[in-house]
Amino acid sequence: MGKCKCPRCFGKGYLDDRDLKRLRLGSSHAGEKCDFCDGDGKVDKDYDRGSVRPETTSQDRIKRGGLCFITSAYAEYLNKSDDCAELMKLRHYRDTYVSNLNNGDNIIQEYYRIAPLILTSLDKSKEKDEIFKQVIIPNLEKCLNLIEDNSMEGAFNTYSKMVLTLKSLTKVD
Ligand SMILES: [Zn+2]
Repeated sequence: MGKCKCPRCFGKGYLDDRDLKRLRLGSSHAGEKCDFCDGDGKVDKDYDRGSVRPETTSQDRIKRGGLCFITSAYAEYLNKSDDCAELMKLRHYRDTYVSNLNNGDNIIQEYYRIAPLILTSLDKSKEKDEIFKQVIIPNLEKCLNLIEDNSMEGAFNTYSKMVLTLKSLTKVD
C-alpha cells in the first residue's frame, strides 16, 4: 500500500507550535511525537480523513456529547485550548462530583439534551457576545473559584442556575 505525507504533522513526525495552533491543542504538546503517523511522518494513502484533527469545534463537541458543552464553548470563545486548566478542572469536577450525585445520571442526561440546543440557538443570536460576557464567562469563573475553594455544591448550584438563565435567554425548553 502506498504511503503519503502525514496530514497532521506535515511529514515532520512531531508537532510544532503551528501544528498545535491549527489543531487547537495546548502548548504542553509542543514537540510531541505525532500520534497519527506514530512519528513516521508518513501514513497509508487511504488514511481516515475524519481522524486527522481532534474534534474541537463546538459542532464537533456537540456531536461528541458531554456535560461540558457550555464549558467547551466558553474555551472556544476565549480562544483557550481544549486542554486548558479551566476545562481540565471542570471535566474533573463533572467526572468526580456531578456523576456521583444521587440523581447525577439524570442531571447529566438533561444537560446532554439541553446544552446543544442552547448553543445552537446562541450561535444564531444577535446577543451571543452579550450572553457570553454577562452570563457564561462570569458564571463559569465563579464555578471555577468555588471548585477551587472546595465548595462543590455551590459550584453545582451556580452551574445549574446558569443553564436555567441560558435556557430562558435562548428560549429553549
Ligand atoms: Zn504525523
